[in-house]
Amino acid sequence: LHSSSSSPERCSVKVAVNVRPLIGDEISQGCRECVSVSPVTPQVQMGTHSFTFDHVYGGGSNASPSSSMFMECVAPLVHGLFHGYNATVLAYGQTGSGKTYTMGTAFKDGTSNGLIPQVMTALFNKIESVKQQMEFQLHVSFIEILKEEVLDLLDSVNGGAPGKGKSPVQIRESPNGVITLSGATEVPIATKDEMASCLEQGSLSRATGSTNMNNQSSRSHAIFTITLEQTRKITPISVVEDTVDEDMGEEYSCAKLHLVDLAGSERAKRTGSGGARLKEGIHINRGLLALGNVISALGDEKKRKEGAHVPYRDSKLTRLLQDSLGGNSKTVMIACISPADINAEETLNTLKYANRAR
Ligand code: ADP
Ligand code: MG
Repeated sequence: LHSSSSSPERCSVKVAVNVRPLIGDEISQGCRECVSVSPVTPQVQMGTHSFTFDHVYGGGSNASPSSSMFMECVAPLVHGLFHGYNATVLAYGQTGSGKTYTMGTAFKDGTSNGLIPQVMTALFNKIESVKQQMEFQLHVSFIEILKEEVLDLLDSVNGGAPGKGKSPVQIRESPNGVITLSGATEVPIATKDEMASCLEQGSLSRATGSTNMNNQSSRSHAIFTITLEQTRKITPISVVEDTVDEDMGEEYSCAKLHLVDLAGSERAKRTGSGGARLKEGIHINRGLLALGNVISALGDEKKRKEGAHVPYRDSKLTRLLQDSLGGNSKTVMIACISPADINAEETLNTLKYANRAR
């Protein structure tokens, strides 16, 4: 079904770390940086800990433009879409670590440098360059998973209040293993502007659909999905010989790219009545837990060869991403961290989670 030309990789999951700069709050509290970065190795150091990843971005004077993250981590996935490969980009990290900034999920005015706007540009450039030979159909959906419920962020009927008064979206699996969302709006897209406006509409709906927006957006996973269907145009043989781009895929293919702004990875903590002592982590997001287990199972080559069980069914998040994680799909996790010493504990948790994924 898929072209076999692409070289097999050590592992279908790549992990990058992005260290954002200190931000206003942290600077005014007098925080110090406790993370250092060697982009070449590529490693992140924190105290006595040192971790190696596929890519490392940011970190004080080493700050690299967001375009290199896009080119190295995400552009290959956009390219793969045109060859029928599903893909997933995940932004992981504690609330405030830069997930939304990095993904560009809260796209407002077309000036965002986030990954999603760069995906749109690359996608439409590619379509433009091959539209002589191929016909394209694009759709987007934008959903949110909150407390194991899937909610439609593009459900304009509800005036931007996701999930209100309607049955939640259902995750379905077809006999050939394709995951679909029944009840989620699939918007047909003809232009980049149309796609950008879906992103904007959905992120607005995410922010206003709740009484406690910070709380909700830190506890929910937001998933922006682009589906690309392509059909080779029927052209007279003589013309075909001259114009067929050998690089292009099959007669027909359909692939999707999930761009996921994950829930905050911090352990929900409860302060005692005195407010001082933090109790042990009480609730860990089920999706993040399951995702860690799935990715670690996928990354374990030995287990994969033995056909070990991959626990996709343990959460809505992993169920929904099932056909776009592992197998022929490409996955990139971007672990986002703050460099500030006050966040050291969560930063270390994030680095450990990301390290396990690798
Ligand atoms: P999260 O989505 O993980 O909760 P945000 O993306 O909202 O975090 O980022 C938290 C704050 O940090 C925001 O004010 C954002 O503008 C800022 N920020 C995040 N990443 C960067 C960066 N690379 N450069 C500058 N500011 C950033
Ligand atoms: Mg966010």
